[in-house]
Amino acid sequence: MNESKRKLLAWNEIPMGGYITEPGNAREYRTGDWREGKIPVLNKDKCNNCLLCWIYCPEGAIEREEDGIKINYFYCKGCGICCVECPVKAIKMEEE
Ligand code: SF4
Ligand code: SF4
Repeated sequence: MNESKRKLLAWNEIPMGGYITEPGNAREYRTGDWREGKIPVLNKDKCNNCLLCWIYCPEGAIEREEDGIKINYFYCKGCGICCVECPVKAIKMEEE
């Protein structure tokens, strides 16, 4: 639609987004569906387990494991913050 013809909506005209129907149901939202072409790929050999990516990931998609970290692609939205923050460049954004 032409930008100049788009009707600006008031806050109460905007369709509802994430409904909270019961406690904890945000776990069911597959935020991984928001990715648009790029996906973070971990190089375990470079990773020193500093956990900065775990702290910075806005989706909580970095999971801690016995032997390091794992990226949960169900929640990963492909924002690339983990890739930027990793001090040893162990995470690379690649075409999905
Ligand atoms: S790209 Fe990295 S920081 Fe962004 S959601 Fe995925 S795992 Fe988290
Ligand atoms: S920030 Fe990089 S080095 Fe640190 S845990 Fe994440 S991937 Fe590994």
